[in-house]
Amino acid sequence: MIPTQQPHHRAVAIVGGGPAGLMAAEVLSRGGARVDLYDAMPSTGRKFLLAGKGGLNLTHAEPLEAFLARYGTRRAEIAPLLKEFGPDALREWARELGVETFVGSSGRVFPLEKKAAPLLRAWLHRLRQAGVKFHMRHRWQGWDDSGALRFATPHGEQRVEAAAVVLALGGGSWAKLGSDGAWLPLLEQRGVAVAKLRPANCGFDVGWSEHFRTHFAGQPVKPVVAAFAGIRKQGEFVVTAGGIEGGLIYAMSAPLRDEIESRGSATLHLDLAPGWELPRLIAELAHPRGSRSLSSHIQSRVGLKGVKMGLLREAVTAADFPDPARLAAAIKALPLRLLAPRPLDEAISSAGGVKFEGLDQGLMIRALPGVFCAGEMLDWEAPTGGYLLTGCFASGRAAGLGVLAWLANT
Ligand SMILES: Cc1cc2nc3c(=O)[nH]c(=O)nc-3n(C[C@H](O)[C@H](O)[C@H](O)COP(=O)(O)OP(=O)(O)OC[C@H]3O[C@@H](n4cnc5c(N)ncnc54)[C@H](O)[C@@H]3O)c2cc1C
Repeated sequence: MIPTQQPHHRAVAIVGGGPAGLMAAEVLSRGGARVDLYDAMPSTGRKFLLAGKGGLNLTHAEPLEAFLARYGTRRAEIAPLLKEFGPDALREWARELGVETFVGSSGRVFPLEKKAAPLLRAWLHRLRQAGVKFHMRHRWQGWDDSGALRFATPHGEQRVEAAAVVLALGGGSWAKLGSDGAWLPLLEQRGVAVAKLRPANCGFDVGWSEHFRTHFAGQPVKPVVAAFAGIRKQGEFVVTAGGIEGGLIYAMSAPLRDEIESRGSATLHLDLAPGWELPRLIAELAHPRGSRSLSSHIQSRVGLKGVKMGLLREAVTAADFPDPARLAAAIKALPLRLLAPRPLDEAISSAGGVKFEGLDQGLMIRALPGVFCAGEMLDWEAPTGGYLLTGCFASGRAAGLGVLAWLANT
């Protein structure tokens, strides 16, 4: 419930017009606050619109306990936010905006049209009608000595005094869409506890041979099981010129990234023939091959070819290749050494950001009374599957409610 109160006519500044900032604007305007929303870009919701190109996976329909587990070490901090505005509330909210959703076969929830633009358009219309004022091309640059917000605008620097501020500046990936992480040192200088931004849901570099790179870059590897640190998942990924990308890899990217950070590399194991038991694989490979080449023998007995054969050739020595037991073992657990995560700018999302330990329950920064934070700029991460947007909407709402409660008491 959004607390209803007398309109207090004090303008609240929201900086950042992504899902988190827009949700804070909605809660605040409904709660009677005057809201000015500032964004560095010429229009709002650019990353949200990009997410729409992939079908806009809004949330997930799995049971709440499983859903909460996706937030890993930040489960305890995210759980109260989702209790107030979880997956079902999000779907209801979209319905109110005229956007019906459906549950896909994997449990992921999408708008019927699988687009972000109709939802964003209806939402912005509703926000404008509610009196939210949008100030585009306003790049926040910190505070001046009097505590006013400083914005770089096409008309020079503007200073804004606000009754309260919600920062919803996003993470550091896809900087060309507006979120460049430049806010991090600004907050750090003010004594706010922040964790370095790091790539999340990202691809990785692999030291491919020139031959493999030339022949297989751009090719999907499927079906395949990837295993790392006790996690085993079936899916697919894409070979890139420098490494690997794709849903299966994103799903395991947090522990892989952490391992690379602490040990310098991480070894992922691939099962190139899911569904085949090792003894059967050995028996098939041990069949006499007659005059056939080893490659066509493997292809005809086990069905491995193309990029999967290329991967085998990358990892298995020439001496081991003709040995059925060793080759079969490699097919079932091919070691792939990952050297580095791809740069933050290429990632789907960011880990790191403003630490929850420095925030109160309403997401106000304790070191900066009256300044609240929401969305991907907070120090949490989650896999793809709708968990990112759900977390951003929920924290935007919590920050909006936090501001209303704070204004009511000051
Ligand atoms: C390719 C791609 C696909 C994705 N698909 C999905 C998906 O299907 N499902 C899902 O759950 N998530 C998805 N995500 C992630 C999701 O889009 C983000 O987590 C979400 O948009 C973050 O919301 P936010 O409001 O915190 O930040 P953002 O959406 O990044 O918005 C932040 C805003 O702050 C503004 N800003 C930044 N710095 C300043 C400044 N100094 N001054 C003024 N304004 C500033 C930016 O211009 C921007 O408008 C995807 C991301 C990418 C890159």
